[in-house]
Amino acid sequence: MSFQELNLIEPILKALQSEGYTQPTPIQEQAIPSILQGNDLLGCAQTGTGKTAAFAIPMLQLLHRPHQNIKAQRHIRALVLTPTRELAIQIEESFKAYGNHLPLRYLVIFGGVGQKPQTDALQKGVDILVATPGRLLDLMNQGFISLKDLEIFVLDEADRMLDMGFIHDVKRVIAKLPAKRQTLFFSATMPKEIQALADTILNNPVKVEVTPVSSTAEKIQQQVFFVEKTNKRHLLYHILQDKSIESVLVFARTKHGSDRIAKELGKAGIKAEAIHGNKSQNARQRALTNFKSKATRVLVATDIAARGIDVDELAYVINYELPNIPETYVHRIGRTGRAGLSGTAFSFCDAEEKAYLNDIEKLIGIKIPVTEDHPFAMTWQSLMAPAGLTSLTANNRDRAIKGKRGGQGGMNNGQQRKPQQAGQQQARKDQEPNLSGAKKAPNKKRRFWGKKKQQA
Ligand code: AMP
Repeated sequence: MSFQELNLIEPILKALQSEGYTQPTPIQEQAIPSILQGNDLLGCAQTGTGKTAAFAIPMLQLLHRPHQNIKAQRHIRALVLTPTRELAIQIEESFKAYGNHLPLRYLVIFGGVGQKPQTDALQKGVDILVATPGRLLDLMNQGFISLKDLEIFVLDEADRMLDMGFIHDVKRVIAKLPAKRQTLFFSATMPKEIQALADTILNNPVKVEVTPVSSTAEKIQQQVFFVEKTNKRHLLYHILQDKSIESVLVFARTKHGSDRIAKELGKAGIKAEAIHGNKSQNARQRALTNFKSKATRVLVATDIAARGIDVDELAYVINYELPNIPETYVHRIGRTGRAGLSGTAFSFCDAEEKAYLNDIEKLIGIKIPVTEDHPFAMTWQSLMAPAGLTSLTANNRDRAIKGKRGGQGGMNNGQQRKPQQAGQQQARKDQEPNLSGAKKAPNKKRRFWGKKKQQA
């Protein structure tokens, strides 16, 4: 299918051509016609699927009034609510790009920066507003924003709003919207609370679902490295010795941790920057620009800061620490392998994180192959200790791998797997951790990632 077949107007087609988009992504194919017909939409999709364009393109077309007096006072006719500043900025950039040949005005507002430039821009008149919930409410309460003329409301990344504790702010905003409006609701996952919110604010929505959260993981090559917490930095450095890894997004759990990792890599001569909520907006943007231009090789990010990061052709993601929410793992690795490109995700797992690994594997429905062949491989003894195991029986090995919450699908547990995942399960069986307890000498010639190992 082509964009022409979606009945888009010429100025939008022209902009899409300049963006180099040749054909719509599956979510665009499904969502654009429904939105153009004025339907509410429930989109189950995550970043990387082209979902921003899926709502931005039809919104631009609906809001474009060819005979509009461009000097007339403008009112906010569309609002996109999104959880992070980075995402908000990128969404506004998308509107600007796809609406480049339209006389509409766009504005992005978010907290953590002075409000004056934002209120000045609001007073000049805006058609489409992209906002994070806190600053939006703040400016609404101060009387700078009225949403009474709103025609289209987009709630983006609803599940993330919930994770980040913004759901009450979101509900407060929704309470101020006109009842008669078109609502587009996007969420990568559908926890109960989000489903309930969708049910209350959508009117007979068209449902669009692409790449359910668990299937994203299938196209990304994943590997887990069992490693002691104290050896993680050595392992990271070891992996980065491979010069073919040009750009890596490293996920850390805390702001402090991400700073420390970036600093240590810097000391080791690897250009790295950290991005997290304590950094100023300018510092975050600068770090992102450096990473995109490849001036910085490693970007270390916390989940919140990384939410909106959109780097085309990012081939590697490393989970320095495993997240305790399994969906977060999927969001993280979804930063790579975008738009059909291949991607690789490495996860460092220490003894305490095995329970997280089990939860992740349960969600994605596959066993992540273990890479044993690295100089910091954990011994069986270390793996077994947290589970209170001492003797090395085959049974204990399985229990050690399964971690504290055993029974959720470790090795040989007899769970049914989808046929295409059998190879990966086998790979894991064949890659048991180093039993000798001795640290192997690094073997630089040997690539311990890549297809070869997976197909063992
Ligand atoms: P999103 O899911 O909105 O985060 O988009 C992911 C990436 O896909 C962004 O870099 C977009 O610029 C890109 N993209 C969106 N739609 C298309 C398309 N039809 N063809 C090629 N790239 C696209």
